[in-house]
Amino acid sequence: MIQLEEVTKNYSGKSAVKNINAVFEKSQTTVLIGPSGCGKSTILKLITCLVNADSGTIKIDGENLITINLRDFRRSIGYVIQEGGLFDHLSIEDNLKLASQNFYINEETINDRIEQLLALTKIENGQLQKFPSQLSGGQRQRISLMRALMLDPEILLLDEPLGALDPLIRFELQTDLKEIFTELNKTVVMVTHDLSEAVYFADKIILMKDGEIVQSGSPEELLKNPTNRFVQKFITAQRSHVE
Ligand code: ADP
Ligand code: MG
Repeated sequence: MIQLEEVTKNYSGKSAVKNINAVFEKSQTTVLIGPSGCGKSTILKLITCLVNADSGTIKIDGENLITINLRDFRRSIGYVIQEGGLFDHLSIEDNLKLASQNFYINEETINDRIEQLLALTKIENGQLQKFPSQLSGGQRQRISLMRALMLDPEILLLDEPLGALDPLIRFELQTDLKEIFTELNKTVVMVTHDLSEAVYFADKIILMKDGEIVQSGSPEELLKNPTNRFVQKFITAQRSHVE
């Protein structure tokens, strides 16, 4: 479980996120949603320690993040960013192996893990020798997911993983991703700006605006009982996608 307590992060005196209180439950999928610039990516970066909070506390299974060994902790987190973040000059196989090699995991274990993940993400073995630029956007995101799962992390963070894909590929990957989340039973935090996607994936949705949480709850709660005008407007603006 990940807990944020009164977490604030400022850039040049302006709050990217402000007094955030949120819980990301174990084995559940929590979706962060809200307009561009509302602080979604900042929350993921705070959880991965890519940026540090100016105030407040982040706890992982009850332990304060600042006391946790960063190297061990990074091992327990898989992170997929929108553009995938693959290294263009490395083959798919080398992209996948990079982190495991840093942790001195033996070659046989790494290769076994790759085999498992190829099946899980429906990638053919023949793709391993290719370079990222030789794959389609959807395949690249499958590889990014594979890479994030290589060390079998407890927590999986995904920042708009399907944002750049065309609708058909996106639909296919949504379906596969949901199956994967269900099968792996990990703590998933996913960012999207698409409400229908949020509803599809989420056990809990956290809707943000201007660095603050406006409403959080199950998709049904959010859709049926929007607590203020902003939530209502946000839902109405995307209604055609949800119904
Ligand atoms: P979102 O992911 O919801 O689009 P972000 O978390 O990326 O939003 O950004 C939240 C706010 O913080 C935005 O106003 C953005 O401009 C600002 N911000 C994010 N990263 C930086 C940075 N490295 N330097 C300065 N401002 C930043
Ligand atoms: Mg973002």
